Amino acid sequence: MSLSEFSLIERFFARRARHDTRDAVLGIGDDCALLAPSPGELLAISTDMLVEGRHFLPDVDPHALGHKALAVNLSDLAAMGARPRAFTLALALQTPREDWLEAFSDGLFALAERYGCALIGGDTTRGPLNLCLTVFGDVPPDRALRRDAARAGDDIWVSGTLGDARAALGILRGEWPASLWEADEAAALKHALERPEPRVTLGLALRGIAHAALDISDGLAGDLAHILERSRVAATVDVDCVPRSRALRKLPADVQLRCALAGGDDYELCFTAPREAREAVLDAGAHAGVAVTRIGTISALREAADTPSIAWTDAAQTPLSLSLHGFDHFDAD
Ligand code: ADP
Ligand code: MG
Repeated sequence: MSLSEFSLIERFFARRARHDTRDAVLGIGDDCALLAPSPGELLAISTDMLVEGRHFLPDVDPHALGHKALAVNLSDLAAMGARPRAFTLALALQTPREDWLEAFSDGLFALAERYGCALIGGDTTRGPLNLCLTVFGDVPPDRALRRDAARAGDDIWVSGTLGDARAALGILRGEWPASLWEADEAAALKHALERPEPRVTLGLALRGIAHAALDISDGLAGDLAHILERSRVAATVDVDCVPRSRALRKLPADVQLRCALAGGDDYELCFTAPREAREAVLDAGAHAGVAVTRIGTISALREAADTPSIAWTDAAQTPLSLSLHGFDHFDAD
């Protein structure tokens, strides 16, 4: 590693991380970080990669990028009911610019500090802009919110509102005119795309209450299907209940629906919980300061060999046939 890369790591990452390594026995600077296992807990580990042009545009605000790179990783911990502990950062940069790195690391550490998640290591190299973070968290063995834990009779819930990030992407792509929105609404949409809030507090509050959970990164329709497949159950979802922001409601009804159900980049939690837990779920949402909305129910497969699927209805329980295919979002993988 060249001296300039070494000083870059020291200046923008190691120096700031040092204030934040209470959880690591040994942080940045050696061959490995050393992390003491928390007695009686499992280590929850997740990796997410962000590639320029695929997950963010080349001219993205670096402060927002620093936030989002960590936010999407913390969102995975949240969806597992895990408490964040530490993360690593692998960074490829074409031409390191000081102002860019300063803003990027400000955005990154602002979020890391809020959730007490320490930067404990990484790798830095020259190349097309590419970020890969790995997060580590703790969860008690019987408290992890797994995708295979949904049960027939469970309610289906989501946090926050869905579709806002996709609406913001549509503005950037010129799919709909920005003039549809007041300035504060346009700002709210942009915020949803650039600075998603990982629902860590909600994930922790749902331990022992929710059955299955995941974070919605590829759109509700596709992500809920993962819970159904892993749990071998079916779902009915009332699309009129799916929470949509005031800003999203400025779009035509069919576009709203596509944004909310298949938009992607929401980073809200979708989870199931037994009927008896309704009060407890609402309390968890209130504790976490985020709205939680009941949107449907889990049912048993009619036959064991059936393919798990989602039946969409409107508020009058009328079945809807939705074609959500071909509505491409930012990360089309
Ligand atoms: P190695 O030669 O073992 O790959 P490096 O010289 O790449 O080690 O890194 C030196 C130290 O700096 C290591 O502790 C590594 O974890 C840390 N590090 C490198 N890049 C980053 C980064 N972008 N963020 C945080 N820590 C980093
Ligand atoms: Mg290295």
